[in-house]
Amino acid sequence: DPPCEKYEYQAEVSRLMDLIVHSLYSNKEVFLRELVSNASDALDKLRFLSVTEPELLKDAVDLDIRIQTDKDNGIITITDTGIGMTRQELVDSLGTIAHSGTAKFLKSLKESQEAGADSTLIGQFGVGFYSAFLVSDRVVVSTKSPKSDKQYVWEAEAGASSYMIREETDPEKLLPRGTRLTLYLKHDDKGFAHPERIQKLVKNYSQFVSFPIYTWQEKGFTKEIEVDEDPAEANKVGEEDTKAEKKKKTKKVVERYWDWELTNETQPIWLRNPKDVTTEEYNEFYKKTFDEYLDPMASSHFTTEGEVEFRSILFVPATRKDDIVNTKTKNIRLYVKRVFISDDFDGELFPRYLSFVKGVVDSNDLPLNVSREILQESRIVRIMRKRLVRKAFDMILGISLSENKEDYEKFWDNFGKFLKLGCIEDHSNHKRLAPLLRFFSSQSEEELISLDEYVENMKPEQKDIYYIAADSLTSARNAPFLERLLEKDFEVLFLVDPMDEVAIQNLKSYKEKNFVDISKEDLDLGDKNEEKDKEIKQEFAQTCDWIKKRLGDKVARVDISSRLRSSPCVLVSGKFGWSANMERLMRSQTL
Ligand code: ADP
Ligand code: MG
Repeated sequence: DPPCEKYEYQAEVSRLMDLIVHSLYSNKEVFLRELVSNASDALDKLRFLSVTEPELLKDAVDLDIRIQTDKDNGIITITDTGIGMTRQELVDSLGTIAHSGTAKFLKSLKESQEAGADSTLIGQFGVGFYSAFLVSDRVVVSTKSPKSDKQYVWEAEAGASSYMIREETDPEKLLPRGTRLTLYLKHDDKGFAHPERIQKLVKNYSQFVSFPIYTWQEKGFTKEIEVDEDPAEANKVGEEDTKAEKKKKTKKVVERYWDWELTNETQPIWLRNPKDVTTEEYNEFYKKTFDEYLDPMASSHFTTEGEVEFRSILFVPATRKDDIVNTKTKNIRLYVKRVFISDDFDGELFPRYLSFVKGVVDSNDLPLNVSREILQESRIVRIMRKRLVRKAFDMILGISLSENKEDYEKFWDNFGKFLKLGCIEDHSNHKRLAPLLRFFSSQSEEELISLDEYVENMKPEQKDIYYIAADSLTSARNAPFLERLLEKDFEVLFLVDPMDEVAIQNLKSYKEKNFVDISKEDLDLGDKNEEKDKEIKQEFAQTCDWIKKRLGDKVARVDISSRLRSSPCVLVSGKFGWSANMERLMRSQTL
């Protein structure tokens, strides 16, 4: 008789299992992600140890993961050829909490950072092995460590407070190395044992695990076989035609069989050296991952090192899908150690105004069970966000510097609005946003110009950047405020998009030059002659009083001004009030 021993779980394990089953009830499918990532860890460990102990690989089996389903009986088996477990390791790993969960993650993270260890070795610290009981009534783990000449079986029922360990004696079940998990699914969860369902889950969660994952799939091929022609058919041709009996006919039949099918791509594109990835490959990846049909306009593939390490590829789409800034765009896909975690973020990883940028981010420094709370509070995430934003700006700047001017025109047409929103929402990135903005001006009504172009074109005596906000180029061009500036040959930005003015007001200045609204009172063009102004003011004081009396409450003040040339008078806004354009916007509620 094989020695069969009963063990009690450590008290915390039962609590953890309860917690998992209750908190993940509506998200049961994570069990597959957890078990596949354990298998991948086991393979990682073997690969790592075999560097110094090559004899560990003496059983020349491939490093892979195989998932087989038996849909009639509701059974899933997951087999890996990784490091396996000795009897003691089974007790330590699957009977206590010491090896799983967030606590260990944090501990290992700290240790590995102190030791400068290879970060790919940090375990996958999700909800862990016990998630198998989310869907299983009974779990059997049969495992063979290269350190032991025996194979052991760990077995437990859902909800039980104990488990059994025995030696594997069935010769049919012996493994060369590694671990086989058998899940006997709960009645209501038997659907997970459908080969297509498993395939879909693997594709979704583990597509980029770096070991091949095979699933057991039914296949078919059509072949042509020769059949004798139906004699009844032949008879129709004519009884006298005796040759008809000998006629052969071909028929197509589908031959069915089962085989292993590779279900993931083992080398995610972002882990490759950017030098080795072609534009076509980036484009394919982008279109496949984000369900796009056009190639992206730009991409950026990078690795960051130091405090926080992650790899990422970001893309700028060729067209705009959302007209408004949408918070739930699922634009950034987060992976932890190549395992897909989530694309459902709300600004934690990437600012809302850059939601048009799409990308993948893969971090080794985050826990697998990273929750919204962790995302919001994690210092690691804050650093990642900062770096991602910088890279996104570099990529956009790259488009703006492209020799093909049309590229940026297209970009601006699609996403200019988003950057203007950025000026309002992200003051810390004004320096990166401002050079990307484009406006029409009094000297360039056909082509948009950048603030750099404006500044270059400034007159030596000009201190400020002048703008006027209007509802159209025509009304901007005809505004009486413009007269003296045009006379001095000062360029004036024409802010004709409703968001332009708000964006500019948030920026306040560019390259130490203030933005000045030429429709506001006190416009100082640096050519004041105070003496003369005073004289004129006195001379016309009575006229002003008279006009103010006639207009009453319609105006706040009537003043003499030196800003006009040909027009006799102009209505200006108070220094601290809304500009006429803003008032119009507020009234029409377009903001
Ligand atoms: P974690 O992966 O965070 O350590 P788990 O609960 O997922 O926590 O797994 C607990 C432990 O069980 C692992 O650390 C590992 O030692 C062991 N283990 C689980 N699955 C396997 C496997 N397929 N091969 C080898 N060891 C495994
Ligand atoms: Mg795990």
